[in-house]
Amino acid sequence: MTIKTPILGLLPEELAEKIGPPKYRADQIFEWLHGKLAASFAEMTNLPKDFRDTLEQTYLITTLNPVSAEKANDGSIKWLFETPRKDAVEAVLIPTESRRTLCISTQVGCKFGCTFCASGQAGFERNLGADEIISEVLSAERLNPFERISHIVIMGMGEPFDNADNLLRALKTLNHPSGRGIGKRRITISTVGIPKKILWFAEQNLPFELSVSLHSAVDSVRTSIMPVNKAFPTKELFEACWKYTEKTNRVITFEYILIGGVNTDETNASALISALKGRKAKVNLIPYNPIDEYPQKRPALETIRGFEQKLIRAGIPATVRFSKGSSVNGACGQLRLRHIEKKQ
Ligand code: SAH
Repeated sequence: MTIKTPILGLLPEELAEKIGPPKYRADQIFEWLHGKLAASFAEMTNLPKDFRDTLEQTYLITTLNPVSAEKANDGSIKWLFETPRKDAVEAVLIPTESRRTLCISTQVGCKFGCTFCASGQAGFERNLGADEIISEVLSAERLNPFERISHIVIMGMGEPFDNADNLLRALKTLNHPSGRGIGKRRITISTVGIPKKILWFAEQNLPFELSVSLHSAVDSVRTSIMPVNKAFPTKELFEACWKYTEKTNRVITFEYILIGGVNTDETNASALISALKGRKAKVNLIPYNPIDEYPQKRPALETIRGFEQKLIRAGIPATVRFSKGSSVNGACGQLRLRHIEKKQ
């Protein structure tokens, strides 16, 4: 059996090169796949039948099978998708009044082992292909056809910069005007904070939004919850961040999960303030979303608001984000974790 080439990760010009002239054929196929969400070549009725048959034999249209869908009372939907290779990946649709944001995964599992995050608990399996990343969006669109996705956040399972080539290929495809056409500024990449990758990203000249998961500006605290900080301490991380803001003139959003008794005290607030003061930076404060298997706790509301006020008084833009979807275990990796446990 010949292995078929995944077609979803190919941009129109690449597709044109592969299938040959006439050039409009590639555009037609791209539009069927990404604009009209075709899941089979048979649907592409403006292509000659024998050409459709050849495509069918050569290419794979990656589809993801929704194993489960959980709707939370705030309207968010969390899907567990099964890939053609039978791995489980998560995607969450988060609707607000003006946006339909889809949170997507880039890897099956995660290598980074942050102590508060469920994604890494079962270890790392593999990178998702560009076709699979794209397919998360296309599958969510098919399952919810009346609600076109307006924004994408790369905050699901995995570390996007650990699978950077596939991710950027997927995002360029999703941004393409003859496909989904999701604007670059409506796409946010969230990273655990790998300095050389942040510098590399700055050179790409792609105005996607960048979020950095900081969670503490105190090295000992950050290392205790994010093992990556041992290899790349905050000094190195911030150096890369400020080179990025200088080069791109863009603001970085720092994600800061507030974990009771861990990173909410005066020392942590002052360290954060001195690190970000005068920089192109804002802070998203995320009250910790408790995970059954983990001991950490969400701090009292008073602590959460107090921390926010300290930042604001110091002139640092900060907003508390109560994570949506928590009633369906919306925090990263939780659904997959339960799925794996059920299977075992
Ligand atoms: N690896 C990337 C993207 C995945 S995590 C990164 O580290 O940014 C996306 C966001 O969800 C991160 O800010 C992460 O720290 C946060 N997150 C993970 N577990 C959480 C939990 N239990 N409660 C609240 N936020 C969580």
